[in-house]
Amino acid sequence: MDNLHFLVGREQELRDLIQSSQQPGTAGAACRDVDVNLYHPADGERPAEGPLAVCVGCAGRMECLALALRAEDPEARHGWYGGLGPTDRDRVAAMLRLPKGAKLLPDRALTAIRLGRDGWRIDDIAQELGCSRRTVQRYLRSVS
Ligand code: SF4
Repeated sequence: MDNLHFLVGREQELRDLIQSSQQPGTAGAACRDVDVNLYHPADGERPAEGPLAVCVGCAGRMECLALALRAEDPEARHGWYGGLGPTDRDRVAAMLRLPKGAKLLPDRALTAIRLGRDGWRIDDIAQELGCSRRTVQRYLRSVS
């Protein structure tokens, strides 16, 4: 099961995080000091081993993966979450039999959460995403 091995025996835990009425938290994120862009290489490319190695030891790995699986468009996965890329997440979604179209958060919520974790100010995130401060605060509150 290669890079999905950390999920063996934890499928129900991940399913529960994805389907919970609470957004998975990212308090245990080990990448707070890593440039978020490193987890978003060009389509089809893989991040460097350094950032991916951070994910392997991250206490928030399951929550990070759950957040992506509940937020992203299954037809347009992008970026690496929980150390897994788009193709890996397709495999996880199939393994868990997640319903297609189960998107619970817009893509920009994920970006806002990542930028907030990188220490960006709310005003700057709002400007970057072209949305209001209030919207950014709502996204950040959803994982606090
Ligand atoms: S698993 Fe997610 S939260 Fe943890 S280091 Fe990797 S990208 Fe960051």
